[in-house]
Amino acid sequence: MEFAETAKVRELREKVWTFLDECVRPAEPRYWREFSAETIPHRISPVMDELKAEARKRGLWNLFMPDDRFGAGLTNAEYAPVAEVSGWSPLAPEAMNCSAPDTGNMEVLARFGTPEQQETWLQPLLAGEIRSCIGMTEPDVASSDPTNISCRIEKDGGDYVINGRKWWTSGAAHPKAKVVLLMGLTDPDGDRYQRHSIVLVPFDTPGVTVVRQLPVFGFDDPGSHCEVRFENVRVPQSNRIGDEGTAFLIAQMRLGPGRLHHCMRMLGVAEHALSLMCERAKSRTAFGKRLADQGVVREQIARSRIEIEQARLLCHKAAWLLDTVGNREARFEISAIKVVAPNVACNVIDRAIQVHGGAGVSNDVPLTQMYAYARSLRFMDGPDEVHLATIGREELRREDGRA
Ligand SMILES: Cc1cc2nc3c(=O)[nH]c(=O)nc-3n(C[C@H](O)[C@H](O)[C@H](O)COP(=O)(O)OP(=O)(O)OC[C@H]3O[C@@H](n4cnc5c(N)ncnc54)[C@H](O)[C@@H]3O)c2cc1C
Repeated sequence: MEFAETAKVRELREKVWTFLDECVRPAEPRYWREFSAETIPHRISPVMDELKAEARKRGLWNLFMPDDRFGAGLTNAEYAPVAEVSGWSPLAPEAMNCSAPDTGNMEVLARFGTPEQQETWLQPLLAGEIRSCIGMTEPDVASSDPTNISCRIEKDGGDYVINGRKWWTSGAAHPKAKVVLLMGLTDPDGDRYQRHSIVLVPFDTPGVTVVRQLPVFGFDDPGSHCEVRFENVRVPQSNRIGDEGTAFLIAQMRLGPGRLHHCMRMLGVAEHALSLMCERAKSRTAFGKRLADQGVVREQIARSRIEIEQARLLCHKAAWLLDTVGNREARFEISAIKVVAPNVACNVIDRAIQVHGGAGVSNDVPLTQMYAYARSLRFMDGPDEVHLATIGREELRREDGRA
């Protein structure tokens, strides 16, 4: 594992910083002013399309995509420090066409999609013209165990007919959301891990209804996280991705890099919170001393720095393993960072809120919104406990091997 940053990564990272400073952060006030979640689909500011055009011009486009037929061809280890910078602004990942859940969906389509599926969905996604969703989680079953997923996908002639209910489908209220990769039951009597398949369902198919949005701690994310109903939705069988019964295989492949990308960005969120904490501590005086000169506050700052550094090392190790030994062999480190990164970010943001006093929980600073995102990541792509169970099981297995 190499610690030194290559010239290529340094240059890219600096370009992303410049893009953030010159374009993205100045656009934030307008973006939020023009955003409205009052309707489904949401109203999204046209400034996002302007940012996308600028990112493309600057060569900051599809950096997440390791397959150089479709994207920048960076390794995960190269992408990690670049993605971290994008975590400093909630707008940057979409502006650079590197936001979830599109990135995972594009990787799935690049790897498993037929030429027709790639033409219809992957190409417009790579061009940033449309957005996509992943529909796994359901309100009626504990979806952290994906074998529970109950949405039915039944054959009827050359079609599939879909009936079920999904929720937390991120981005479904985005005006550019055109398709959902839906996971459902094709063979209820089959082996637990081979009962499910993934099909592409265009949002404009009759029977698809975006029922409601689910704000997170009261925050409406652009595109939101929605409950979506599927009633006798008919799509051709050619919309299936991969073979029947391969949903788990595909989801595992999708979730490895997807989880790691979330963690890379989460480090940027944590760094941003620490930076806000330091700024505030230096500018505020209580009991005759700047907050920055109070030992207790310094300790909070120091602990935050230490935790971020630890998390970054683990994140980069997981990225390096993903590049060198692959998804399967890297799964324990990916699970480990998936637990560590959002928890570290939650700790750092919470300390930053405390150092801000009452202002910390107001909307004058972005900390509450950052907290909502970091806290949610403890569920997204699997809750902490599922990852802890995986790591614990493996540790015990290794111990058996040593005994
Ligand atoms: C903001 C946000 C965005 C999301 N976006 C999407 C999306 O785009 N697409 C999508 O499909 N899903 C999405 N999700 C859903 C997310 O992936 C699920 O919430 C998560 O997988 C957990 O499933 P569940 O909510 O059904 O919880 P459940 O399965 O009901 O689990 C509840 C709790 O039980 C505990 N638990 C579960 N398993 C174990 C275990 N083995 N050991 C000990 N305790 C355990 C955990 O504490 C867990 O949090 C999103 C969620 C959020 C909050």
